[in-house]
Amino acid sequence: MSLVRVENLVKDYPLPKKNLLGKAPVYRALDGINLEIEKGESLGIVGESGCGKSTLARIVMALDKPTSGKVYYSDIDLFSASKNKLRQLRKHFQMVFQDPYSSLNPRKKVISIVSEPLDMLEKSISRRERKKKVELILEEVGLNPGDIDKYPHEFSGGQRQRVAIARALITKPSLIVADESVSALDVSVQAQVLNLMMDLQDKYNLAFMFISHDLSVVEFITQKLAVIYLGKIVEKGTTSQIFKKPFHPYTKLLFSAILNVDPDIKKTSTKKKESKFSPTPSSCSFIDRCSLATTICQSKSPVLAGNKNHQYACHHA
Ligand code: ADP
Ligand code: MG
Repeated sequence: MSLVRVENLVKDYPLPKKNLLGKAPVYRALDGINLEIEKGESLGIVGESGCGKSTLARIVMALDKPTSGKVYYSDIDLFSASKNKLRQLRKHFQMVFQDPYSSLNPRKKVISIVSEPLDMLEKSISRRERKKKVELILEEVGLNPGDIDKYPHEFSGGQRQRVAIARALITKPSLIVADESVSALDVSVQAQVLNLMMDLQDKYNLAFMFISHDLSVVEFITQKLAVIYLGKIVEKGTTSQIFKKPFHPYTKLLFSAILNVDPDIKKTSTKKKESKFSPTPSSCSFIDRCSLATTICQSKSPVLAGNKNHQYACHHA
């Protein structure tokens, strides 16, 4: 049994303007996502800005509902669970957001910030017990337990992200969803926070859904990888396999973009239009950017194929 199983997830967002028929148009941000996360495993989610990563994260965290599809947490259907059941389940999955400056309430002390998820679950916990738990968890993430009465602005960016991790850990979750959690940090601080996450993964057999637009970070921290393009997984498998031999033209493009050190080349290389085709509802969604595109890509959207360790959705890979 997987810790998390996502089945055929679709998310439509309403677009502001109604069309001529008076029907509200929608934007399909997730288009049939399937994935699993095993206990203690770190799954990386990569793809360009706007591909649907945060939408997926919010739905897996039950912070938003899908248009269709399912999310199972240890075989329990999250969106059919009773309110009470969902409240109990919530302590098992926690989230760490991108921006350590805006994700922590600036008017609250560290003790309140870190204990908040606990306060919602264990209403009867004594002040002393609560303080002890927060001190222990601060130590666990490499902060000074004496810092509990400080405010977020008294910490550096890296320390704030440690506070956010402490807050996520306090309920002893089995899954942490980290949405661009180190993207705002300097490279050297990034490495420290990533090392902390890996230590925690080992120590508590924690699973991570690790979202990043930065492939080098994902290569460092994850065992499995899913590459998303316009709301669809185009390649997934073990991180080492995909890094050794990416199959999908989009994954190759992402990889070549990080390898290009010249920022101007980087900017144009993922945007360059190489194809004479345009996408249609039945075509491959990558058709307009793909140098391999042929007529079959126009008539048929490819599905994921390959083996368990490495799948890719491309007619030509
Ligand atoms: P990512 O995290 O990969 O950058 P998001 O999941 O934030 O992508 O967004 C995916 C797409 O859905 C984007 O095109 C974005 O503009 C759109 N989107 C995200 N949230 C909303 C929303 N609340 N309402 C309408 N559109 C949204
Ligand atoms: Mg995002």
